[in-house]
Amino acid sequence: MKPDLTTLKQQLAEIADLKAAIAVLEWDQQTFLPSGSEKGRARQIAALSRHLHRAATASELGKTIESLEKYPPEPDTIGFALLRSARRQYDRWVRVPETLAAELSATTAEAYTDWLRAREQRNFQILVPRLEKIVDLKRQYAALFAPEERLYDALLDDYEPGQSAAELDMVFGELRSRLPALIDAIIAAQKSGSDFSDRTFPATAQMQFSRDLVTAMGFDFQHGRLDLTEHPFTTDFGLDDVRITTHIDEHDFLSCVLSCVHECGHALYSLGMDPELNRTPLADGASLGFHESQSRLWENQVARSGAFWRAFLPHLHRYFPGQLADVSARDFLAAINRVQRSEIRIESDEVTYNCHILLRYDIERDLIHGRIHCSDLPELWNEKMREYLHITPANDTRGVLQDVHWPTGAFGYFPTYTIGNLLAAQLWELAHRELPGLDDFIAAGTLSPLREWLRDRVHRHGARYLPGELRQRLFGDARLQTEPFLRYLSERYLPEA
Ligand code: ZN
Repeated sequence: MKPDLTTLKQQLAEIADLKAAIAVLEWDQQTFLPSGSEKGRARQIAALSRHLHRAATASELGKTIESLEKYPPEPDTIGFALLRSARRQYDRWVRVPETLAAELSATTAEAYTDWLRAREQRNFQILVPRLEKIVDLKRQYAALFAPEERLYDALLDDYEPGQSAAELDMVFGELRSRLPALIDAIIAAQKSGSDFSDRTFPATAQMQFSRDLVTAMGFDFQHGRLDLTEHPFTTDFGLDDVRITTHIDEHDFLSCVLSCVHECGHALYSLGMDPELNRTPLADGASLGFHESQSRLWENQVARSGAFWRAFLPHLHRYFPGQLADVSARDFLAAINRVQRSEIRIESDEVTYNCHILLRYDIERDLIHGRIHCSDLPELWNEKMREYLHITPANDTRGVLQDVHWPTGAFGYFPTYTIGNLLAAQLWELAHRELPGLDDFIAAGTLSPLREWLRDRVHRHGARYLPGELRQRLFGDARLQTEPFLRYLSERYLPEA
């Protein structure tokens, strides 16, 4: 007899709808909310969050899950994945005592204010007392799910289900030993070139060109919007309403253009999921790493390639005829692929980027395992910056205080960026094997074959498979791989070598 999932689906749909409603309020808060309306909005979000907590921890839901687990659906069916995911989500909600959850959310809110003040005064020590408390609370949280020696794994698991620090140690170790020499070689081989920061690119033209690009990628404006925020992001309110945002700097049009491509890569993941997954916990990426692989594949492998700009540079010239009149295609490509060691992670190029992650990973893993103390962070940070990138940050604000992740309690998040880069390179190789003529399609401005391939191989499954299972399906090997990524960097940046 086939298990009846109707009740489970109804209970999960309620949770998904509440999450989506909260996401609408948060999206509005970041885009259009008048500055005087913050208090009311915080109240509304808090009220819905209480409903969400009630629905997600309801004993009826626990009973439904338990009774289905007695006669579970066949493995490799959507029902099986749904039940597994429901169990995972339910345990994450009910195992965390309300006092711990409340303390975490209060402390991170306070730490965020401390972080802003510390940045202003360029003094990390302002953040230390609350950051220490957060580390302690995150250790308590992790201990609910894993033994002492695997506390960091439990934090990783929130973003990258099933990922172990042991595997990351190995994979990141490979990058640590290979990347520095590659960065040296690429910087040495790179020709000097122009940038366009002395020119003005009007906001409306930037926005129109970006809209053209995401339309070419397949972003569906019947089921989404593109708006402006301080920091670009993607959110969805179910699979039929996916919102992306960007920001505009009139002297740096690439920042708008490439952030639109990046966020659109995230959006296509949600828009490409099997509609059957809508309003279930499976209507999500397989992991943050997989999500990031989609945004980065479009941003880096595709939108920084010669093929892509063969199609879109003439179009760009129509929007900015004066500003780009003296810029050759060759100079343009050199400018958007410039490799440069920098203090700031989010400003760094795809070659040096992972060094920023390796450093953060080393530090946060050791923090969670109690091997180092928060007060030592600036010194450790600067030491590792010198080791990985030969740079000493000018001050804490441009060093250890640059990211908001730790004060907001997001330990275990940083590695997902590098996992995304590794997966993007693997997918790019696989796409070339399975889609003959891919580069010619891209050079003709036809992006649908790549999008449809990604939809078929990755998007439609949502979170049906754990990241390791999906890697096994895609690549015949569940382990993370560094070779395709290093190969991609060499081929793109050292073509003559
Ligand atoms: Zn992203």
